[in-house]
Amino acid sequence: MKKLWKQLLCAGLCLCTLCACGGGGAKPAESGKPRIVATIFPLYDWTRQILGSHAADVDLTLLVGSGADMHSYQPTAEDIVRVSEADLFIYVGGESDEWVEGALKEAVNKDMRVLNLMEMLGGAVREETLLPGMEAEPEEETAYDEHIWLSLKNAFTCCQAIGETLEAMGIVTRRESDLDEYGAKLLELDARYLQAAQSAPLKTVLFADRFPFRYLTDDYGLDAYAAFQGCSAETEASFETVAFLAAKLGELNLPAVLTIESGDGKLAETVVRASDRPGTPILRMDSMQSATAGEIASGAGYLSIMEGNLEVLRQALSAAQAPEE
Ligand SMILES: [Zn+2]
Repeated sequence: MKKLWKQLLCAGLCLCTLCACGGGGAKPAESGKPRIVATIFPLYDWTRQILGSHAADVDLTLLVGSGADMHSYQPTAEDIVRVSEADLFIYVGGESDEWVEGALKEAVNKDMRVLNLMEMLGGAVREETLLPGMEAEPEEETAYDEHIWLSLKNAFTCCQAIGETLEAMGIVTRRESDLDEYGAKLLELDARYLQAAQSAPLKTVLFADRFPFRYLTDDYGLDAYAAFQGCSAETEASFETVAFLAAKLGELNLPAVLTIESGDGKLAETVVRASDRPGTPILRMDSMQSATAGEIASGAGYLSIMEGNLEVLRQALSAAQAPEE
C-alpha cells in the first residue's frame, strides 16, 4: 500500500517537474537510491567527494573504468542500460562522447538530469592548438580540447555545477555535502601550482608524448612542446618531430622529459637518446584518462593525483643538473 502511494506520488511529482522545466527529481532505483552515472574517473571522484558521507545514499557508477581508455571507449549493452536508467548522467561532452547522444535517445528515465560539462563551462573550453614541432592531426575541422578536468579552475566550476545539481535533485543540501570543503581544497592546490610555476626557474615543459595537459599549462602561463596534439590517435612520431624535441631539450636545458600514463615511454627514450643530454630522466604525469579499478580501490583520488602531478611539474621546471659526461 505504501509502495502504491509512493508510486502515485512519484508519478505526480514527475509530471509536475516535466511541466515546470523538464528537469527530473531523483527517482529511487530498486535499491531505493538515486542512480548517478559518471563517464570518467575525475567526474566520478568529484561526485563522490562532494557527496562525502552521503556517498552511500546514492548508487554511483563509473562508466569508463578498469583501465579502459576514454578515447577508444565504446559502451556495452549493459552500459547503455545503466545510462538510460540514470537519474543523473555526468559526462565531459567532447569528441570521445559522440556515443552519448544515441544512448540518451534510448533513455528509459525521461526525467533524467544530464550534465554536459563542456557545455556548462562554455567560454572556458579551448580549442586544440598545433604547437611548433607537433605532428599535425589529419582532420582540419576545429576540435575542442576535451581534457577539461586537467585545469583545477575548471574542476572547481564543474564541482559547483555537480553540487548544485545534487542539491536541486534533493539528494544532499549544500550544508550536508562536502562541496565547500572540497572546492576550497581545489583552489588551494590551484594556488600551489601557481606559486610553483611562478617561482620555477624554467617556464617550459616538454612532453615526448600526447598532450592532454594544455589546460594545465595554460592556467599557469607555462609553455609546452609535445609530440602530438591533444590525444591524437597518431602514435608514430616522424623523424622531424623527434629531432625537434631532442633539439629543444638541449637548447632549453630541460631537466626532464615528460610522458603521460597511457604511453609506453618509447618515444621519450628516443628523444632523450637523440639529444645531447642522454642522461635526462623521463617523468610521468597522470592525466586520469584510464584509471584502473586497482587505482580506484587503492583510494587514489583526483586531488591526490593532481598533487602527484604538481611534484612532477616542480621537477620538470627546476634548474637542470649539469649533463652527465
Ligand atoms: Zn585524451
